[in-house]
Amino acid sequence: MKEKAAELAVVSNKSFQASTAVNLHHYDISSALQTSLEFNELISIFCNKIQSTIPHNSAEYVNDEFNLTYARGIIGRHSCSYALKVEDQQLGELKLTRSQRFTKDELRMLESLLCCLIYPLRNATLLHQALQMAYSDPLTKTYNRAAFNDTLMREMKRANRCQQNLSLIFVDIDHFKFINDVHGHDCGDLALASVANWIKDSLRATDIVFRYGGEEFVIVLTDTDLDGARTIAERVRHGIESHTLAYGMDVLNITASLGVSCLNEQDDMEKFVKRADTAMYQAKQSGRNRVC
Ligand code: GH3
Ligand code: MG
Ligand code: MG
Repeated sequence: MKEKAAELAVVSNKSFQASTAVNLHHYDISSALQTSLEFNELISIFCNKIQSTIPHNSAEYVNDEFNLTYARGIIGRHSCSYALKVEDQQLGELKLTRSQRFTKDELRMLESLLCCLIYPLRNATLLHQALQMAYSDPLTKTYNRAAFNDTLMREMKRANRCQQNLSLIFVDIDHFKFINDVHGHDCGDLALASVANWIKDSLRATDIVFRYGGEEFVIVLTDTDLDGARTIAERVRHGIESHTLAYGMDVLNITASLGVSCLNEQDDMEKFVKRADTAMYQAKQSGRNRVC
């Protein structure tokens, strides 16, 4: 018994207490990081949790794969930054700054704590990669119909809440069946991918283009009224008309008909979408290659 007591006495020494404290700190951070799969939230939780151990004035996280930047605080003169990665998977770069130099011990501690962040970031990456795949159209590299439904629902709520305008443009390629019938399905596929690129080239960074179905695209324009949407639709129409598509020895001129709608207060999603679709059919009926 005496021997046991002597053994147990060892556990109360300083280095053991220190390592217990470090382990508890790791455990606390890891538990907190399990509550989210959003990059910004993960970084925010991590920085809050390490603030007492590694005081810092600002944090910046950049993730190129998902085109994402998170920044908070006031940038200081001294910095430390880490390119985070696990098994060749890039997980972004984290940079902390403050007015005083980070000590070696602090950096060692930070590197140890970053291990808690790596796997939650990897899980977030896997989730977002899967979402991207589920939400994108592989042929045209635009978002798909499922993404459109989710985005429109979210943007309609936001527009109503913030009293902002929201507009839609429906784009339907003219006589597309003719392209398939005369030049073949592969040429049709190339035409679809090319039109998608020409549409994207005519838009602002905030406008989002979706493949609605077959040869139809829809563009969501945030903070844009009907006049603004008409102007953008005309630019898209002109962009498509002014390109030619080379396919083997053939040169194709492609046009599209476009319909525009702007969100009304009493609109639900169906009404809002239907108005743009109806306007697009009007453009077809009145001669194609135009905006209604
Ligand atoms: P309109 O000017 O009235 O719009 O005539 P259209 O020929 O464009 O319209 P229609 O709806 O008659 O034909 C659309 C065609 O688009 C028929 C369909 O086979 C073709 N299509 C749909 N999806 C794809 C695709 O992924 N690739 C190819 N190559 N063709 C597609
Ligand atoms: Mg169509
Ligand atoms: Mg068509």
